Amino acid sequence: MKYNLLEEKWIPVLWEDGETSPVGVIGALEHASKIRCITSASPLDLFAVYRFLLTLLYWKAGLAGGVEQVRDSLLKDGKIARTMLDTIKNEMHRFDLFDDKSPFLQDLSVRDAKKKDKKSAGSLFADFATGTNIAHFHHGDDENMRVCLCCTALGMLRVVPWSQAGGKGLTPSVHNAPPIMAIANGDNLAITLGLNLVPLDVEEAGGAKWTGHFKPTRFDQPIPYLEAFTWNPRRICLPAPRKGTCWYCGQADVPTIGKIIYENNENTKLIKKGNKSIPFSWHDPSAFYPVNEYRTVRSYSEISATGQ
Ligand SMILES: [Zn+2]
Repeated sequence: MKYNLLEEKWIPVLWEDGETSPVGVIGALEHASKIRCITSASPLDLFAVYRFLLTLLYWKAGLAGGVEQVRDSLLKDGKIARTMLDTIKNEMHRFDLFDDKSPFLQDLSVRDAKKKDKKSAGSLFADFATGTNIAHFHHGDDENMRVCLCCTALGMLRVVPWSQAGGKGLTPSVHNAPPIMAIANGDNLAITLGLNLVPLDVEEAGGAKWTGHFKPTRFDQPIPYLEAFTWNPRRICLPAPRKGTCWYCGQADVPTIGKIIYENNENTKLIKKGNKSIPFSWHDPSAFYPVNEYRTVRSYSEISATGQ
């Protein structure tokens, strides 16, 4: 089974002419000036997809003169340099959910986990009740829950920006408590990507970690931005799909996945100094932080999450 995020049509978009249809990543980037916007109903999905597209652009911006030049080209001409697109296509194997050797955002070294330790596919979605959470928006059970591959792609992309701390020591993502994220919206996808592709203060780009066991390269200095954008606080392995009904979007008789391996990544734990946990030094361009701090406030209310 193959499911490559660059080619499969899993991103729902509204076109300039009013039509709606899903596209793959390459289609979205090639036709960015003809796409009005991405239309995921969930703001968590929406941000995760924009963040993924932006990460790809940050990753390969050096081939087109750097981040500022790519941003200018998107804002003025609505275009992404062909060399960037071709290079991303050449690295296609990194973006397949079921690649034999390097499945996207997964860690094959945990694939032999015991059956009893597998978790609901709903673990990828904060808005699904799983484990010992009480059922709120959705009533179901962990054993039978299934998710189609379009929705699995969305769920996997949520892991980096939206993982929260959980029971049994599950660590949150690089932000600690997920903050409120803001995305600037333009008249089309090219402008939206350009507005949000801001040059970053962090001097070092670092490496994007698209697969395998994620390990931070440092704890006591600013995190390189490609590392922060692919920061993976989990060790996940997806099972082979089989036909079923998706509990997220409702599609029936399509390939779906059931229970997944979803383990904590001990390497992404905050370091302790005395009784205090020191936050990672990372200032996300889309998030709100108190001035000169990297600690996002636990969002027990919207106001506190903005750091006010
Ligand atoms: Zn679905």
